[in-house]
Amino acid sequence: MARTLAAAGRDLLDHPAPHLTTVLLAGSAVLTDGRSSMPRAVEELVRALIGRGATGMALPRCGECGKTSLLHGRRGQVRICSVCAGRQAPCGRCGRHRRVAYRDRHGQQRCRRCPPTTHTGRVP
Ligand SMILES: [Zn+2]
Ligand SMILES: [Zn+2]
Repeated sequence: MARTLAAAGRDLLDHPAPHLTTVLLAGSAVLTDGRSSMPRAVEELVRALIGRGATGMALPRCGECGKTSLLHGRRGQVRICSVCAGRQAPCGRCGRHRRVAYRDRHGQQRCRRCPPTTHTGRVP
């Protein structure tokens, strides 16, 4: 028999994480609606709960292709999978359609030729 969300939740309370508790207090719907805006901490919680046999939860879906892949990319508030993140997008500096190689401080995509001056070297 599948374990309930409540039972899985009680397991987690053995090792409570303050930020997760805050999220859960905000509403358990965040665990079940599979929104691409699901915060990373919540996604990890959902993965952990599903791994413990909990049902009724949904992993976040990519905001562009809708797959429940690992969402390593982001467009604004929407999280996207690495496949979509690797797609070409207009560069925030030169305006050419190119593969996104950098993000500047404001989250604007930049092509390989236009690295932000203070970029972190993080590839989306
Ligand atoms: Zn995608
Ligand atoms: Zn560029």
